[in-house]
Amino acid sequence: MASVDYSKVPITEKPLHQPPLEEIVEVLSKGLVSNFEDVSVSAEVSPDLTQPPYNLSAPGLTGNAKLVELGGPPYLVPTVRRDKLYDLAELLRHLRRDPALLVGAGAGPWPYLGVNCEGIINLSLKDGVVEQGTRIVSVQPAGAAKGSSGYKQQGLPHTETRTALLGNYLLSDGAPGKVIKVVAKKRIGPANFITAIRETLKQHYGDKVVGLGGTFLLREGSVKHHVMPDFSGTPLCSDADVDNWLHFFEMRAPIVHVGTLVTGDMGLDLRVQHFHGFSAHGDGGHYHYDVTPEQAHYEAYLALAAAVVRIDPPADTHAIGRD
Ligand SMILES: [Zn+2]
Repeated sequence: MASVDYSKVPITEKPLHQPPLEEIVEVLSKGLVSNFEDVSVSAEVSPDLTQPPYNLSAPGLTGNAKLVELGGPPYLVPTVRRDKLYDLAELLRHLRRDPALLVGAGAGPWPYLGVNCEGIINLSLKDGVVEQGTRIVSVQPAGAAKGSSGYKQQGLPHTETRTALLGNYLLSDGAPGKVIKVVAKKRIGPANFITAIRETLKQHYGDKVVGLGGTFLLREGSVKHHVMPDFSGTPLCSDADVDNWLHFFEMRAPIVHVGTLVTGDMGLDLRVQHFHGFSAHGDGGHYHYDVTPEQAHYEAYLALAAAVVRIDPPADTHAIGRD
């Protein structure tokens, strides 16, 4: 099946509010303490993110940083749109981005695996050469193998650069530069790590929409993730239908997550937060929240985005399946 032709789908871009990093540091330092006992926020150059445990496809997150939202949940529910296949290397070329790093949460290329799967997107382009660090996670039949965890994480070959249906990515030059570093330990409030950051920023900045993207590491504790099984044979018409269809698992640290958050919709039908995780021990999927508040230990490096690029938004939209 052919991938979507980017010259034939709507692509719009809107600027985001860009406060000074030092101001964001102050806002988050004051706000996050209602949700975490131990909070430390700073603006600094990220470490080399190509190194473990991050294993990203470029060393940094900055350089013309933008959020990219591709497709959306309406291409997945109530029924799948199998024509919504996107080649991400082709997207970078279409947007004339090289060098580029694209990291975030999306769906894996189902034609590659033969079934629907999660995509932990981690792809770079430099001098026309693709480095594919994306992982995919698929549901495995229960009891298929001894010690089966119910899911399987695997890599993709450099020649497989497709994704499907939807995606939320940070796009940058992949260059080392100043980002927001957030360390948060021991959760004492109800919000998950990303919701706490997004709501703190929204409370302060109001209608001025701020967007961040990048990576966070769960150093200790466990998290609840979901993994999408193959496409539903019956229409999924509510969040309850979607939850019944998804497979939920508890996964163990250390897990590296990649994705985006944005404090408003900007009339672009945005998914306001979306992070997926992968790990060296095979755990990975769509992040919901930690299940071990006492042990929770997060460390994030988040780049401030200058704009949102909205690609091929669903014409008929709805609010189902966005958690
Ligand atoms: Zn997801």
